[in-house]
Amino acid sequence: MDELKRIDELRNILTKAGYEYYVLDKPTMTDYEYDMLMKELIELENKHQEYYSASSPTNRIGGEILTKFEKVTHVTPMMSLSDVFSLEELENFITKIKKDYEDASFICELKIDGLSVALEYEDGLLKRASTRGNGVIGEDITNNVKTIKSVPLSIDYKDKLEVRGEIFMPKASFNKLNKEKEANGEELFQNCRNAASGSIRQLDSKIVAKRNLDVFLYYYLGIVNSQEEALLKLKALGFKVNPYYKHFSNFNEIKEYVNYIESIRETLPYDIDGIVIKVNEMSLHDKIGYTVKVPKWATAYKFTPEEVLTRLEEVTFQVGRSGVITPVANFKPVMVAGSLVSKATLHNEDYIISKDLHEHDYIYVHKAGDVIPEVVRVELSKREPNSKMIQMIKNCPCCHMPLTRLEGEADYYCRNNNCQERVINSLIHFASKSAYDIDSLGDKLVRLLYEEGYLRNISDIFKLKNYEEELKSLPKLGAKSIENLLSAIENSKHNPLNLLLFGLGIPNVGAKAARLICEKFSTMDLLMNASKEELLNINEIGEITALEVINYFNNQTNRELILELKELGLRMDYPTMEVKQSFFTGKKVVITGTLSIDRKDVKKILMEHGALPVESVSKKTDIVIYGENAGSKLTKAKELGIRLMNEEEYKKALE
Ligand code: NAD
Repeated sequence: MDELKRIDELRNILTKAGYEYYVLDKPTMTDYEYDMLMKELIELENKHQEYYSASSPTNRIGGEILTKFEKVTHVTPMMSLSDVFSLEELENFITKIKKDYEDASFICELKIDGLSVALEYEDGLLKRASTRGNGVIGEDITNNVKTIKSVPLSIDYKDKLEVRGEIFMPKASFNKLNKEKEANGEELFQNCRNAASGSIRQLDSKIVAKRNLDVFLYYYLGIVNSQEEALLKLKALGFKVNPYYKHFSNFNEIKEYVNYIESIRETLPYDIDGIVIKVNEMSLHDKIGYTVKVPKWATAYKFTPEEVLTRLEEVTFQVGRSGVITPVANFKPVMVAGSLVSKATLHNEDYIISKDLHEHDYIYVHKAGDVIPEVVRVELSKREPNSKMIQMIKNCPCCHMPLTRLEGEADYYCRNNNCQERVINSLIHFASKSAYDIDSLGDKLVRLLYEEGYLRNISDIFKLKNYEEELKSLPKLGAKSIENLLSAIENSKHNPLNLLLFGLGIPNVGAKAARLICEKFSTMDLLMNASKEELLNINEIGEITALEVINYFNNQTNRELILELKELGLRMDYPTMEVKQSFFTGKKVVITGTLSIDRKDVKKILMEHGALPVESVSKKTDIVIYGENAGSKLTKAKELGIRLMNEEEYKKALE
C-alpha cells in the first residue's frame, strides 16, 4: 500500500481506538496492538514530514473532553510518555542522554496502569482534582477523588501546591466489581485501567466511593532538585508513593531492575504495564526538553504482553530429516517477550484441527517457556466470512512423493530417503552445535554446498578438502572462510563417538541416548555388534531405541558409510572418564549467561566432577552457574530460591 494512504488509514484506526479507550472505556483492540500501530504511524510520519497534521493521534494526548464535568485548564500541561518496547531501545534512550549529559542519573518507577490525576492544594486544603484530558484541558473530578481514602484532604503546606499521580483500581477490587456486574447481568470491565477510568467519571460520587479506588503520587510541582527528592517530599507530606522506585546510574543496573520487576509483576496487588525511567536531576529536564506530547527526559519501558495478536499470512510445510512433515504458521512479525517473531510450528494435522485454524485468521501468539513461539488460539471475532480451514498437504512439498501417515500416529511422512530436503536437513543436523558441532558449517552453507553438488551424504563433508581450490572460487564464499571451514572439519574429527552417533540421525537416538549408549559400548566396533538385549540392559534405553540402533547398523549402506568415515580418520571411540568426588557430585546444574570459559568445557568439567548438567531451570535444579548477560533462567532461579554461583564461586567450589 502507498505509504501516505497507510498514514491516513492508521490515523483513522488510532483515532477511533483512542475514542473507544479514553471516552467510552471500552477498548476494541489490545494496548499492544494500539502501541504497535502507533509505532508504525510515528515511523511513517517521520519519513513523510510534509504530511504533518496537528490532529494526528501522534500529536494528541487522550480523547475528547466529556461535557458532564467542569473543564479545568492545566497551567503546566499534563504530558504523556514516549515508550520503548525492548531493552535494546531502552539502552538507546539511556545512551543518548548519557552522551550529552554524562552525569545524568535515573529514577525508575513502576508504571501503574490507571489514569493520571492532578491534585491542587491551597492553604493546605485539597481544592481541585482533575483528569489529564487532552493534556491542556481536563475534567474536574474533585468530588469523586475525595472519596479515595488515600488522598489527603489536607496537608501541612501553606502555599499553593500541585501534585500528580495515578488513580488505579487494585486487582482485588476489580475482580469483586466484575463479579457483582456479572451477577447483575451488566457488561464487565475489560481491565483494571478501564474500570478505574470508568469509575472515576461516574456522576454519582457515592458509586465512586464503593469502587475502592486508590492512588500513587509521582510528580511534585514545587521546587526540588531531583525526582528522588520529589518522591521523598510527597511521602513526607502524607501522599501515597509507590515503594518500588529506585535510583540508578547506568543501563546495566536498570536492566536488572526491569527484569526483576517483570518477574514479580504478577504478584503485585495492582496492574502495571511497564516501568517509567526518568532523569533524576531536575536541572537537566528543561535542557533535555519536550516534544508537543512527551518529555524527552523520561520514557516508559512497556512490558510485552504474554499473548500478542497477529495475522496468519500462510501455512508452509517443512520436511524434516526423518521425513516428518511439519506445518508452520507464518504470521505478520510481532514482538513477543522481547524479540520479533514471525513463525511458529503447528506440529501436525491434529493440532491444526484442535486450533480450528482458518486462512488469514487473527491468532494470539506467545512464547512457551519464554522461548518457543506458539499459536495460542484464534480470535474468532476477526475471522473473515467463508475463510477456508487450513488443510494438510497430500504430497511432499519437496519431492512430491505422496505422504503417508501411520495408524495411531499424528505425523505425515515423506518416505523418500533421497528427498532433497531430507538429505539437506540430515546434513544440517550432523554439523549442528548439539551434534558433531562443526563450527563454520551452518544451515546456509550446507544448502549452498548441496546445491553446488559437493555434499550428498555425511562422508562428503570430510572430502571437501579435496576441492579446496574450487570451493575458494565459489562466488558467495571467500578464501578465508573456506580455510576456516576446512580446518573446523579437520578439528571435528577428534570428537568423541557419542557426537558421531547422535549426528548420524538414527531415529529415537537423541544426544542423551547417544551418550548413554557410548558409555556402555565405548568403540564403534563394539556398538555395531551389540545385540538388542545388551542395548536394553542400559538404563533408560527402551525397546524402540534399541531396535532402531540394531536396524541402522544392519543396513548395508549405513555400514559402508561408517567404514568410509573410519577411513577418513574420524574418531571411533568414547573416552571413559573417571568421575571425581566433589561438591558438585550428584547435583543438577544449569549454566546460563556468558562465562570466560566456553560453556561446553564447563559442562565437561562438571560431568568429570559427577554433576548432571541440565538445560532448563526447575524446582529440581540444585545450582545455577551464571555469567554475564544471564536472562530468564537466572530470574527464574532467583524466584525459585535456587543456589546461585558466579564464575568465581564455581571455581572455588571445584577446588
Ligand atoms: P501511557 O499510558 O503509555 O503513558 C503515560 C501515562 O503513564 C501518564 O500519563 C501517567 O498517567 C502514567 N503513569 C503511570 N505511572 C507513572 C509514573 N510512575 N510516572 C509517570 N507517569 C506514569 O500513555 P497514555 O497517553 O496515557 O496512553 C496511551 C496508551 O494507552 C497507549 O500506549 C496504549 O497502551 C493505551 N491505549 C490503548 C488503546 C486501545 O484501544 N487499547 C487506545 C488508546 C490508548
